[in-house]
Amino acid sequence: MMKLTYPAGKFLILGIICTGLVFGLLISQTNNSTDNVQNNGISQITIFPTLPNREITNLVESTRLPILTYHYVEVVQDKNDTIRQKLDISPSIFENQIIALKEASYSAVFMKDLGNYFEGKEKLPDKPVAITFDDGYRDFYTDVFPILKKHSVKATLYVITGFLDRPNFLTRVQLKEIAGSGLIEIASHTLHHIDLKKADEKTSRQEIIESKKALEDIIGNKVYDFAYPYGSYSENSIKLVKEAGYLTAVTTKSGIIQTPGNKYSLYRLRPDTKTGKVLISWLENIQDKK
Ligand SMILES: [Zn+2]
Repeated sequence: MMKLTYPAGKFLILGIICTGLVFGLLISQTNNSTDNVQNNGISQITIFPTLPNREITNLVESTRLPILTYHYVEVVQDKNDTIRQKLDISPSIFENQIIALKEASYSAVFMKDLGNYFEGKEKLPDKPVAITFDDGYRDFYTDVFPILKKHSVKATLYVITGFLDRPNFLTRVQLKEIAGSGLIEIASHTLHHIDLKKADEKTSRQEIIESKKALEDIIGNKVYDFAYPYGSYSENSIKLVKEAGYLTAVTTKSGIIQTPGNKYSLYRLRPDTKTGKVLISWLENIQDKK
């Protein structure tokens, strides 16, 4: 026991010195922060000079961004095809809408731009609009793509990967050309257009994750965004979409204010056959329900 007395005493003295130093520092910090509170009321700046990245991301604000939904844009040949008639607008109406948006100073953005905005990595232009197409029909190549190229307007195309090369759907060759233009963002709409709310875990996982990989293999580029078939999704689909590494996901719910908190259940709008000033005043007067 006696052997320990000397070193123990030494440690005791060291301990007292260290404790004194720590207290001294604490008192000086408290004084500094008190000074700051008294002087300018921003004491946090002394203690937390920078916020961690996650905090900055959370500061990204909601944005008013119409995400327009389109399906068919063509002159429907089969007058008995009621589904197609209902979802269709003619190429001339579509072109009129594109011109009206440009004249009203809207700037088209990709869905990944909104995703990057939510991550705090990108700014959005004034009056942003996202033009989105579902399913990947053949008419995107024959009717839509030439109009978008003519007016240099960006759009996002949600492709059902497993339906490529089927009649009425885009071919892989067409998709590669569209993707290579840089004007169109290619995004996923699952492998087989299933209802994710009703699907089991294994199927949902495959449809959400594998469609992304398959598309990336075809276009040779990363895929960032997703659309739920029929706008149908569950908490589990959101979890899988996030896990797969998508930046955003769109629904068919109607609305115009997009928030970081709903980046995996974003609102969209259907312009239908509205054109010119009617289209623009409709867009500018939309109010989301509180
Ligand atoms: Zn669809």
